[in-house]
Amino acid sequence: MILILFGPPGAGKGTQAQILVERYNLKQLSTGDMLREAIKKGSDLGKEAKSIMDKGELVSDQIILSMIREKLENAEREGFIFDGFPRNLEQAKSLDEILNKLKLELDLVIEIIVEDDVLIRRIENRVRESKDARSDDNAEVLKNRLNVYHQSTEMIKPYYLEKNKLVQIDGMGSIEEVSNDIESHLSVKVKQ
Ligand code: ADP
Repeated sequence: MILILFGPPGAGKGTQAQILVERYNLKQLSTGDMLREAIKKGSDLGKEAKSIMDKGELVSDQIILSMIREKLENAEREGFIFDGFPRNLEQAKSLDEILNKLKLELDLVIEIIVEDDVLIRRIENRVRESKDARSDDNAEVLKNRLNVYHQSTEMIKPYYLEKNKLVQIDGMGSIEEVSNDIESHLSVKVKQ
């Protein structure tokens, strides 16, 4: 099974991805996590990415796509969940090409919908409660991440709607409510 979890920063994609990983034995591919790992290692790629991430802008498609290609080509499992990727139309189209080459097919794009003011409150709490808050978790950068989301990332919705792959979930309930909602779509849509 191949899924994309799609939604604004702070929507709970990571939390829901972890639940799905266990339930369906999927490998989670989070481009944000991959980038943060590269930063921790201090690689050239990490250094280049950090300044862009700290502004809330998108890292170049070239970097993102080569990371995804490498992970997919070297993965043993056939089930994946993409989290934070694709983030623009170019990435979405490239993902189709990569999957095609590997003879894999995307099953579903799950959009988690949360209103902007709720997202801002969630991230503010995350900053207050976490000892190791991310360097891009602050009010100003978050506003830019939300702008980038509305300007670039949301543009991929019509692409997947047309392919009949997009389902929309209300992301404002509890973790369990959201995950049950996702589950009900998966059992209808996806052959297991
Ligand atoms: P969030 O879900 O809170 O937006 P992520 O961990 O997915 O956070 O991403 C953090 C940052 O990493 C983004 O703001 C962006 O700079 C960079 N990034 C992550 N994934 C991508 C991607 N697919 N394309 C471009 N930039 C990305």
